[in-house]
Amino acid sequence: MSTIGVLALQGDVREHLAALTAAGARAVPVRRRSELDAVDGLVLPGGESTTMSRLLETFDLLEPLRARIAAGMPAYGSCAGLILLAREVRDGRPDQHQLGGLDVVVRRNAFGRQVDSFEVELDVTGVPGGPVRAVFIRAPWVEEVGPGVEVLASVKGRAVAVRQGAVLGTSFHPELTGDGRVHGLFVDLVRERAAAA
Ligand code: GLN
Repeated sequence: MSTIGVLALQGDVREHLAALTAAGARAVPVRRRSELDAVDGLVLPGGESTTMSRLLETFDLLEPLRARIAAGMPAYGSCAGLILLAREVRDGRPDQHQLGGLDVVVRRNAFGRQVDSFEVELDVTGVPGGPVRAVFIRAPWVEEVGPGVEVLASVKGRAVAVRQGAVLGTSFHPELTGDGRVHGLFVDLVRERAAAA
């Protein structure tokens, strides 16, 4: 069974752990280097990307995590997690760190403020069984994608779900709806990688 970590510095960690467990993975929180070294893939949760960025430094995880992502570890970021995985952030804080992994440019809080949060039914490429209910909370959108990036879903003409190899990002929060299909897609990616290694 694949072991998938959830970066547990801030954000909705518990919801991701539950969604991964429901999707058939062994899910563990990751706060230290040794825990990061032991996982086959990592989820970066929703929350606040600027805070997570700062805590990655405090917990000495920034460079080890960059290195694992560069070496091909599967990763999935929802909302703030997508922002962290992006190559570049617009409307971020100037000192905000990027992990790379997704050759995309995202705009932080692009859909508006907390009061502009919304939900839609969304078809996501690679997710079988019809649309998913997508919850957007002070969500980013993806403004530019590199040649290796596949757009899996869009809202209002803006990309909100992307994949580059084994790295996945969504502007929305599938961990909040009890629908495990997006996590299922990620668990499959991690399994495929592990089988190919
Ligand atoms: N606006 C948050 C950020 O910039 C993301 C919000 C979320 O994860 N729901 O990190």
